[in-house]
Amino acid sequence: MRESACCSVCSKQTSEGIYVLSVFLCHDCEQEMVRTPVEDPKYQFFVDQMSKAHRSMIVS
Ligand SMILES: [Zn+2]
Repeated sequence: MRESACCSVCSKQTSEGIYVLSVFLCHDCEQEMVRTPVEDPKYQFFVDQMSKAHRSMIVS
């Protein structure tokens, strides 16, 4: 049984996802990020959410 975690981008609680830089990303957000071009402002949103989550992990 896999442990569920809270997605760093959409805050969804799920066991379907991956860890990127020790930040959890649900399957939906991972797929969305893969489909989003780097020049899209939405891509920057994903990066921001992940770096925020990553930073808060270091602090705590
Ligand atoms: Zn998500």
